[in-house]
Amino acid sequence: MANPIYDALVGIHRGNAKPFLYLQDGRVLSHSDFASLVGRIATVLRDNGVEAGDRVAVHAAKTPETLALFFGCAQIGAVFLPLNTAYTLEELRFFLGDAQPKLCICSPEEEADIAALLEGSGRALTISADSTGSVADAITKAEPLKDVADRDDNDLAALLYTSGTTGRSKGAMLTQNNLLSNTRALMAEWRFTADDVLIHALPIFHTHGLFVATNVMLAAGGSMIFHQAFNANAILDDLPRATALMGVPTFYTRLLASDRLNRDLVGHMRLFVSGSAPLLAETHVEFEARAGHRILERYGMTETNMNTSNPYEGERRAGTVGFPLAGTEVRIADADGNRLAQGEIGGIEVRGPNVFVGYWGLPEKTKTEFRPDGYFITGDVGMIDKDGYLHIVGRAKDLIISGGFNIYPKEIELVIDQVEGVVESAVIGVPHPDFGESPIAVIVGDEAARPAVEAALATSLARFKQPRQLVFVTELPRNTMGKVQKAELRKQYGELLS
Ligand code: ATP
Ligand code: MG
Repeated sequence: MANPIYDALVGIHRGNAKPFLYLQDGRVLSHSDFASLVGRIATVLRDNGVEAGDRVAVHAAKTPETLALFFGCAQIGAVFLPLNTAYTLEELRFFLGDAQPKLCICSPEEEADIAALLEGSGRALTISADSTGSVADAITKAEPLKDVADRDDNDLAALLYTSGTTGRSKGAMLTQNNLLSNTRALMAEWRFTADDVLIHALPIFHTHGLFVATNVMLAAGGSMIFHQAFNANAILDDLPRATALMGVPTFYTRLLASDRLNRDLVGHMRLFVSGSAPLLAETHVEFEARAGHRILERYGMTETNMNTSNPYEGERRAGTVGFPLAGTEVRIADADGNRLAQGEIGGIEVRGPNVFVGYWGLPEKTKTEFRPDGYFITGDVGMIDKDGYLHIVGRAKDLIISGGFNIYPKEIELVIDQVEGVVESAVIGVPHPDFGESPIAVIVGDEAARPAVEAALATSLARFKQPRQLVFVTELPRNTMGKVQKAELRKQYGELLS
């Protein structure tokens, strides 16, 4: 009997007294406590009629129980389905209807509404941020399940919906081996061991906080300081006793905004990782100046787990996402999937054990996103430089085609961002009567920088790439993972040139 994820991440820790979770209320859960929590959850799931292959959804606060739920699902062979806590009931109607979970673990406040959405297909059980509620009570009373379902590498372990940045979210079907192979590659690349203490302040409904952070720490047998939400001061408080932090770029800009961040505070730290959205080169440089650490940027997505990483040893290059992880192949291809030469810009395609097996309920979409030779078309556009570093230029859907010419927003954003007084920018294509589409720039910064931005654009870029309008704003729309919502901007400014 085997169950790769359960065995490697939970089963090995039975009886391991080393701390796994340091909670903010002072409680400490050892690895062994966590394994027992997982077992009790497995009992509760089974008592509620969940069987291997059934989906178990969670739309609830970040707690040890909701974290352990993934592993409880793994123990009985169920498919874990975490949902962004920011989703409204209207959005949940789509996800629950699409995935048809047998159970949805939710907050007590939304129990009645979710139960109504699940009518006929499943039930709602509750847990609140302080770990009370119907499922929490049942977990407390349950005995740990001893049985572990027999699973193999290709069995589904999770159904994770993409963030919905470019359109409707799609459910990515992830197998045991998709997850575990990536855990092993990351643990080795980033040198995690049982001595590590990671500050975990990411949400656990997304691949970053759920799989990258948690699976790696379990595999390594290390510890996590578990923050229920991101709070810069709480992180600054904990940095002196931690060895690693994984964050989205906004974590780093917010830490830099505090004058508490300095070299002394991070004396015990060995690694800062960033991903999920592009890290500005400027943030990278400023962080190194202030904290003496080069942030390690990596690239991944819901469908593929992590694909590339800057090197642990060797040069971490600002503005790049590094090299393919062990076992993963990355190529830059043209529209037909032909490999392009080094230095050319094209679609980023990936292949490897980390790549998902398809979109839930969308066999046609799955077919069009894979090449016959097994490469997955990520939808990101990039280039591999002469030293092998991958640069992400943007998303294919954000590419601007103006009068027949391709314009990559990133190239323009980089020029704007260098100007004194500019914090950041987002370049989007909006309908234009003559060119079909033309770029405009939405800029966060001081309006007084306008002439300098115009001058920088005029000297650095060909006329057709220069934004037709510069709009100054106080902030860019972002989702919970810190991703700029360009579709939102296109909606807002769609008529600007018409
Ligand atoms: P959807 O697929 O529904 O439109 P999404 O692509 O934002 O949403 P995720 O799977 O959460 O959903 O995000 C993956 C994407 O995030 C990648 O395809 C890439 O565009 C972006 N990304 C991740 N890491 C980085 C990074 N280090 N630099 C730039 N972009 C990144
Ligand atoms: Mg995507």
